[in-house]
Amino acid sequence: MPQTTSTRRGFLAGRALGGDKTHYPPGITEESLKNCSGCVECATACPSKIISIRHGIPVLDFQRGECTFCGKCADRCPERVFPTDPVSRFPHNVTIADDCLAVNFIDCQACRDACATAAIRFRPRIGGPFVPVLDADACTGCGACISVCPAEAISTKSRVFPEVADA
Ligand code: SF4
Ligand code: SF4
Ligand code: SF4
Repeated sequence: MPQTTSTRRGFLAGRALGGDKTHYPPGITEESLKNCSGCVECATACPSKIISIRHGIPVLDFQRGECTFCGKCADRCPERVFPTDPVSRFPHNVTIADDCLAVNFIDCQACRDACATAAIRFRPRIGGPFVPVLDADACTGCGACISVCPAEAISTKSRVFPEVADA
């Protein structure tokens, strides 16, 4: 099956960021991206400066900072790219790799301190510093923990939605 224009553009944007995951401002979908003109208004409006236009579409870089779900990108957009209802979570949450300093017996709780929803807690461990545990339901995917992690141990992961039983 041939790639749609937006899928192709998303693929290229992901490659441009050097990763295999592309994140769009909250509420944007591959389908709604077809309406994007690449005007840069959303990137200009973002107080966190995490939006850039790559290959004509807006993509996020959580290494630069977090999304506060302020909605300013949606408010500024002159096209029908964003949903009309406010969005307060992404279709991903985060995952913490074994590179984590605390896992490797070096004291660190920077991610917990950055998390506005208390989605990262620390459980005690005998003989070493507490280690982080993610509450995936509480995680909004905002990315605040990603840029503060000194070990670059935190990355995004697609959210797993519960299966809906057939009627
Ligand atoms: S909701 Fe706010 S912080 Fe998040 S990408 Fe849009 S403008 Fe930036
Ligand atoms: S900020 Fe990074 S290194 Fe520190 S505890 Fe959290 S995941 Fe581990
Ligand atoms: S991405 Fe999730 S765990 Fe990280 S700061 Fe945001 S809500 Fe907390």
